Amino acid sequence: MNGTDDFAVPDSEDQDIAAGPHDPIPFVDGNAAAGALSELFRIDIIAALGRCRHCGSVRAFGEAVVFTDAPGIVVRCRDCKGVLLRLVETPTRYWLDLSGLSYLEIDREE
Ligand SMILES: [Zn+2]
Repeated sequence: MNGTDDFAVPDSEDQDIAAGPHDPIPFVDGNAAAGALSELFRIDIIAALGRCRHCGSVRAFGEAVVFTDAPGIVVRCRDCKGVLLRLVETPTRYWLDLSGLSYLEIDREE
């Protein structure tokens, strides 16, 4: 850590996973990640509220920006483009990185 002004800037280690905010890589919304994530979570992830660890923005997961043209799925914050979630599937395992989310707030099913 080298200061307090770095919160809104994605970690440099994220830059090799998906392009930065100025690169014209096509993306879709959070619904595109629902299929893969539904295999891991028995919850409605699309409606869940998530807090971005980079900028503090709280939004429904479905509003996130999803890049599928990467090794796996990269979900970024719509506000600051920081990485919220990364998911890589292999034939035998899932690798799930949630370190960009401070929390997920999930409605309980009745
Ligand atoms: Zn953010």
